[in-house]
Amino acid sequence: MEIFYPGDTGYDEERSGFQTGLRHEPQVIFAVENAQDVEEAVGHAKTHGHEYAIQSTGHGLTTATTGVLISTRRMNNVEIDVETKTARAEAGAVWQQVIEQAAPHGLAPLSGDASDVGVVGYTLGGGFSVLAREFGFASERVRQTGRVGDVVTALEFELLPIDEVHAGEMFFEAQHAPEVFEAFHGWDLPDHVTPALTTLGDVVRITFASTKPFDVNHLRVAPTVKEEFSAKPFAQAAGKPLPPHTYQGDNVLLSDLPLEALHNAREAAAHSSAEIFFGVLPLGGALNTEATHLIKLISPQLGVEKQHEEVFDQVRPFVVGRSRNFRYAVG
Ligand SMILES: Cc1cc2nc3c(=O)[nH]c(=O)nc-3n(C[C@H](O)[C@H](O)[C@H](O)COP(=O)(O)OP(=O)(O)OC[C@H]3O[C@@H](n4cnc5c(N)ncnc54)[C@H](O)[C@@H]3O)c2cc1C
Repeated sequence: MEIFYPGDTGYDEERSGFQTGLRHEPQVIFAVENAQDVEEAVGHAKTHGHEYAIQSTGHGLTTATTGVLISTRRMNNVEIDVETKTARAEAGAVWQQVIEQAAPHGLAPLSGDASDVGVVGYTLGGGFSVLAREFGFASERVRQTGRVGDVVTALEFELLPIDEVHAGEMFFEAQHAPEVFEAFHGWDLPDHVTPALTTLGDVVRITFASTKPFDVNHLRVAPTVKEEFSAKPFAQAAGKPLPPHTYQGDNVLLSDLPLEALHNAREAAAHSSAEIFFGVLPLGGALNTEATHLIKLISPQLGVEKQHEEVFDQVRPFVVGRSRNFRYAVG
């Protein structure tokens, strides 16, 4: 195992992850390769009275540590058991590895919309997959967890017999947001369909996926700038990696989302002094939660907590919590 101190060659590279706006400032980094290394790292932190943080990809960095950083990216073995339809992923494994190994056997994990996200961090936060409403949270598929202290060394979880999915996306110009939001909100959503709506600057994007066919014609309330919808291998619906960048984000879980509140929140985000990408995920279906919707906000800069809270103010009466995933560079 390599150990890095500030000033060492490799220290900066090891502490850097997907989030470029914030970095851990550890006094020591343990670049662990196996469970024994994790024990050594946790033991070191305890002996010296330091806190420790864990980083795999850095997608979900919330607050930076000044204590011990346990970097898991080298500890990334993935094994598939076709008989039991399970996968075992070590602490630093990413979804792409599981997807690639499972696909030849007609199997797939409940991964999300970015295949370079870490299996463990994602699953510990619940894990909202591109098929979430059809199959529930990824965390419910965990069969076994290996742990040293607070560090998960490996997860064993179920794979699903998923080969092809019906998935696609539609883009509309942002000027059509009111009618597109209304059509999305009014969607009489079959339990097996998982959609998401996101504003991205000049455009509004709707994505949807299911293992069964479904209809999206009612969403065509304005001309689409671009659209695509077909049956495809799961891997193609699983989302492509993005380059590392700076972003801050937060979310709220809601017990209800009346159309007026949704419009108010959308407008607050559109007119904010910060650039805000506004996302809404309908929950329900197989998702074991009382919340009906999740609203997530992402900005391509830090220091915008106040602007995000102003958007959440529009749905405040319905807020029942936050998802641990979809929180970025916030304490
Ligand atoms: C572009 C993008 C797309 C995303 N898409 C989705 C999505 O579709 N669905 C969804 O549910 N989430 C999604 N997320 C959120 C993502 O699942 C969380 O941010 C998750 O925490 C990332 O885990 P990571 O290991 O990749 O990141 P890291 O930043 O390396 O880890 C995040 C946190 O997870 C914990 N952690 C990581 N490894 C361990 C371990 N071995 N033991 C104990 N704790 C550990 C630590 O608290 C750590 O701070 C997305 C995030 C991004 C940036």
